[in-house]
Amino acid sequence: MKRPSVEQFARTVSPETVASVRATSTRMSSARKSALFEAFDDLDATRTQAAQIKDYVLDNLKTLLTQFELKCRLNGVRVLWASDAASANRRILEICHKAAPDGGIIVKAKSMATEEIHLNKHLAKAGFEVVETDLGEYVVQIDDDMPSHIVAPIIHKSRSEVGKSFEREGLGPYTDDPSELAMRARAHLRDKFRAAKIGISGVNFGIAESGRIVLVENEGNSRLSTTAPDVHIAVMGIEKLLPGESDLALFLRLLAGSATGQRITTYTHLISGPRRKDEGDGPKEVHLILLDNGRSKILNGPYREILRCIRCGACLNICPVYRQASGHAYKSPYSGPVGAVLGPALGGVEKRPDLAKASTLCGECEEVCPVKIPIPKLLLNLRDEAVRKGVVKDAIPWGTFSVGTTSGFRWRMGLKLLPMAGLVKHPMKAAWEEFKELPTKEGRDFRGWWRGRS
Ligand code: SF4
Repeated sequence: MKRPSVEQFARTVSPETVASVRATSTRMSSARKSALFEAFDDLDATRTQAAQIKDYVLDNLKTLLTQFELKCRLNGVRVLWASDAASANRRILEICHKAAPDGGIIVKAKSMATEEIHLNKHLAKAGFEVVETDLGEYVVQIDDDMPSHIVAPIIHKSRSEVGKSFEREGLGPYTDDPSELAMRARAHLRDKFRAAKIGISGVNFGIAESGRIVLVENEGNSRLSTTAPDVHIAVMGIEKLLPGESDLALFLRLLAGSATGQRITTYTHLISGPRRKDEGDGPKEVHLILLDNGRSKILNGPYREILRCIRCGACLNICPVYRQASGHAYKSPYSGPVGAVLGPALGGVEKRPDLAKASTLCGECEEVCPVKIPIPKLLLNLRDEAVRKGVVKDAIPWGTFSVGTTSGFRWRMGLKLLPMAGLVKHPMKAAWEEFKELPTKEGRDFRGWWRGRS
């Protein structure tokens, strides 16, 4: 079945969903502004500094990854490389089969990389019970839905919808009180944490200097997912590196401020490997999957800057298209402006040529991006690639336009005939008039005025 374009999907979104997405994204955007301007004296200079650090990572990715791998191994972390989604899923399954030959519960912390490789589906097919433990992701899972925001997966849902889902799943009588819903999820998930043999997480930052894996969160579920089970598997995109520990001070504040308007997230986990001999708890094994899945290709191409992304979601919150269409329109774990670039850059522009058009090019996404990714420029590159490859038809007949504009005579004739445009029937005109009226000519034309001015 052909997937609807972002524009087509946006027309089908209910007013309630648009209201939910708008309310939360507006709130997050204004919280971001206050938090960042309070945290940094010169926000622009800070963003430049962050972009330079991420560029340094991309310029030296091979060396830094080698250093990171070595340090991780010295810390007792078992490192595996995955060139694509299939090999990542295969390697994770092998670890799971070894740790729990009879299957069982796997608790999962929120992770975009695992969404990208559709890990849950593979684990479930192999007989494991995968339980998402982030509250938003848990609701997505029980509703058989998809996350529609990088940071706030259920931005599209109202409290009452969540209350109904909990009631349906037998998590108590209906309520839409957020605290009560959170307590019920907490009680339900506690048993899962106790029973799980394996915990899976993503990685917010990997520190090349020390081999530490950094996770940030607000609910405490990542902590439990990575420490209660005997085996922790972390899945990390290869671009998520920072060169040194000292870079964390900047990036933790930038990420928290840009994502949720916090000075710092409630929990920051610095994972240095499995439990030591003298430690009473923590995982016995930590495995790190370094995921490429198209990133090396992006590194050497025209969309390289998108690999600076730290997945804060600020560009989604500010984007007028995202606010109207919601994250589901992008049909990918990565939605909004970052998704419009990252999706086609990872999977090929042929698969979703409409994504590059899902932007007004207003530039707000670049303005709010903590690592100054020039998203509008990258979208224009994508549009160009899509047209050159013939996967989208140029909506404007530029060939005809150039015939009219490269001759003074034809241009003047065209201007004379312009008032008759109202009588012409053309699909492009019909599409325009669905939303706007064609302007009517007013007053004298410029050439007439110019000739008569002396
Ligand atoms: S592109 Fe920039 S603003 Fe958007 S999620 Fe990534 S880091 Fe955040």
